[in-house]
Amino acid sequence: MALQHPHMQHPHGQHPHAPAGGGRDLDVNPVFSREPLTIPRYALPAGQLAPGTAYQIVHDELMLDGNERLNLATFVSTWAEPEAARLMAECAAKNMIDKDEYPRTAELETRCVHMLARLWHAEDPRHAVGCSTTGSSEAAMLGGLALKRRWQARRRAAGEPADRPNLVMGVNVQICWEKFANYFEVEPRYVPMEGDRYHLGAREAVELCDENTIGVVAVLGSTFDGSYEPVADIAAALDDLERRTGLDVPVHVDGASGAMIAPFLDPDLRWDFRLPRVASINTSGHKYGLVMPGLGWALWRDAEALPDDLVFRVNYLGGDMPTFALNFSRPGAQVVAQYYTFLRLGFEGYRRVQGTCRDVATRLSAEIGRLGPFETLGDGGDLPVFAFRVREDIANFTVYDVSAALRESGWLVPAYTFPENRTDLAVLRIVVRNGFGHDLADLFLDDLRRVLPRLRAQREPQRDAGDATGFAHGAEPKKAGFKQARPTKTEPTKTESRKTGPTKAEPKKAGSTKTRRGKAGSK
Ligand SMILES: *Cc1c(COP(=O)(O)O)cnc(C)c1O
Repeated sequence: MALQHPHMQHPHGQHPHAPAGGGRDLDVNPVFSREPLTIPRYALPAGQLAPGTAYQIVHDELMLDGNERLNLATFVSTWAEPEAARLMAECAAKNMIDKDEYPRTAELETRCVHMLARLWHAEDPRHAVGCSTTGSSEAAMLGGLALKRRWQARRRAAGEPADRPNLVMGVNVQICWEKFANYFEVEPRYVPMEGDRYHLGAREAVELCDENTIGVVAVLGSTFDGSYEPVADIAAALDDLERRTGLDVPVHVDGASGAMIAPFLDPDLRWDFRLPRVASINTSGHKYGLVMPGLGWALWRDAEALPDDLVFRVNYLGGDMPTFALNFSRPGAQVVAQYYTFLRLGFEGYRRVQGTCRDVATRLSAEIGRLGPFETLGDGGDLPVFAFRVREDIANFTVYDVSAALRESGWLVPAYTFPENRTDLAVLRIVVRNGFGHDLADLFLDDLRRVLPRLRAQREPQRDAGDATGFAHGAEPKKAGFKQARPTKTEPTKTESRKTGPTKAEPKKAGSTKTRRGKAGSK
């Protein structure tokens, strides 16, 4: 939220998270009688407070945040074992970049990279290249940058122009890929959805590729419906493209969620470095890696896939240590927690945790399908995630009504519309994570059953896309297809129009995207 000035007026009326109190000072409970009774809300207080008083004020402010455990919108861990939390507290002061000062933390990062390289079947895991990041978004920037740089080098070596790079992906990609395209000036080419194909298809991907394509992003676990994209088919179609035309287009797998699900539950699914066309993979350590927020991983199949000129050297025990990251300083605690979780669970532990999530998701989706008014999209059998819609013949309530009704009992279930060409489709989505077991699923079903008679008795919908909450977690609509001219700094309106969502639910201004992400960013 730091991007939004507290007094900035939201362009579409009052944002639900706009500052309350109109800038009034904060009233402090008079029980703290030795303190001033108000403190400024948006200005640095002139003087000091006792730590206990300051703690209580902050603590009380946060009381009305949603309950993380009831947050079925997020993919991100909302629970950690006390031992993991203790290690994180112990490492809170460690800066990941200080490899020289904290060589053991650096070593644990290296071990995690190697474990992931093995898990994802790198040819030679000992020579795997990879790093931790703050999340999949940063990892996506790094993966995309490597693709772009490799393409540029190839084009320049061949004496061809290298100024119009494009990236091919499904319109369902998470917002980080839209950011990558925007920040690093790569034309995004989105394959639209079609009928009941809600993610990238192999044929459709290849059709958008040309000599300026730096790569294809395949998502292992779409945020829209939890489905895996057909990575092996996409790779095979690109192999065929190379045979026919000589175009060699690499694949980056966005495995933010799925790269920590598929290795344990779908060992025979070929989506990873077993496919020679897969150049790099990212995952979110803080999603199904089971670490608290603030951790991602990016890996390349070998050193060749990561151009050397993107790698910086930092001093490490008198030698030099390669680093590739957007940030300099970064917390080390999450990396330590990832190593702890790898040790603690091992392969079998992860398999059981993820398997339980999938059990809960498939059962919940089946039960919701049996309730009557709903139709499920996906059964929770890829990611433990599924979407469901209100049946087409029901006209008197919407998914937005359902979302609002569930919120009355504390459940945070996002409702949103799909992107092109399925903007007609509005869904609710449930993400089953570690800690959301069969018990909570039953409580959830009870609450859903309880609100149905009331919704059924409604004359007409009470809420529509305009009332949608902003917590779709990257499942925001974007325009499919591609423009010939890539967005440039001198043409800001192009960037803006590309962001324009097809429904009222999505703010239309680029600026308000920040507001929206600020909220969703609490995942
Ligand atoms: C969550 C997600 C991202 C963004 O990851 P962060 O770790 O939140 O930065 C990117 N891609 C996919 C498919 C995701 O699910």
